[in-house]
Amino acid sequence: MAQQKTMSLLEFMERFGTEELCHQHLYDIRWPERFVCPKCGVADEPFNIKSRKLYQCKHCNHQASVTAGTVMDKTKTSLHKWFLGIYLMSQDKRGCSAKRLQRELGIAYDTAWTMSHKIRKAMGEKDAAYLLGGTVDMDEAFFGAARVGSKRGRGTEKTAIVFGVSMNNKGKPGFIKAKVAPTVDSDTVSDFAKEYIEAGSRIRSDGLTIYRILSKDGYAHEAQVFDPIGSPEHLKILHIIISNVKAFINGTYHGLGDTHLQAFIDEFCYRFNRRFWESQLFNRTINACVGATPFPRYELIG
Ligand SMILES: [Zn+2]
Repeated sequence: MAQQKTMSLLEFMERFGTEELCHQHLYDIRWPERFVCPKCGVADEPFNIKSRKLYQCKHCNHQASVTAGTVMDKTKTSLHKWFLGIYLMSQDKRGCSAKRLQRELGIAYDTAWTMSHKIRKAMGEKDAAYLLGGTVDMDEAFFGAARVGSKRGRGTEKTAIVFGVSMNNKGKPGFIKAKVAPTVDSDTVSDFAKEYIEAGSRIRSDGLTIYRILSKDGYAHEAQVFDPIGSPEHLKILHIIISNVKAFINGTYHGLGDTHLQAFIDEFCYRFNRRFWESQLFNRTINACVGATPFPRYELIG
């Protein structure tokens, strides 16, 4: 598939360079044909309360805003900065740290951190709607530093992440899913498959016994002992993807703790899964941010 051109910063500034342009864009996404009151459902031109950027329904007097129900709900940051933040986070394969958002947008670190997590959560929710299917390669990997007081052995020293990638018949990767797991055992494998992989799919793994449960779960499971010399192609693509995820986590988000690891992994998967539609990434991410359910800041802490 041919790579499409991404939106340049200049193009971005032409389309979304002012608060008004961003506001109008959100209005057009929410009400593409005509205003429909989110409360009473009547479609009728609203009173436009320009000073407060609200739209008042002529039938029930409900005051609607373009940001209600989006990740930008009740934000004190300008839409222009939000749009630029979404642009930076969606365009760059390496992601965009809160520190960089702080600097580029001229906002407080706290605000930048909350913004980046809200965008990340919207990305994760968008991907949660899709399942892997066909032929799926599965494996697990360990991230981060060894935990103090942990036992030695597979899966006990670092944070485990289970990965799945759908593969086409030419041996090219399609889509990926990844989940942070407290332990790596049969239940983890089974839960991952049920949550992310279509029933009946073909799943390939290494020879580890924890994957045997997949046959019992109704998948066509093919196990092969990992042998990089005898069978160099086996799980090779997935291992490359896993090293890219590690580089992303270590490169952009140094010293990331376990707490938010899943959110960062979701961000990686989101961009990877849209790598053939780079030119649409910004628009798709704005749409994800508008469609995502709002959540208060406290959910992000801890
Ligand atoms: Zn109404």
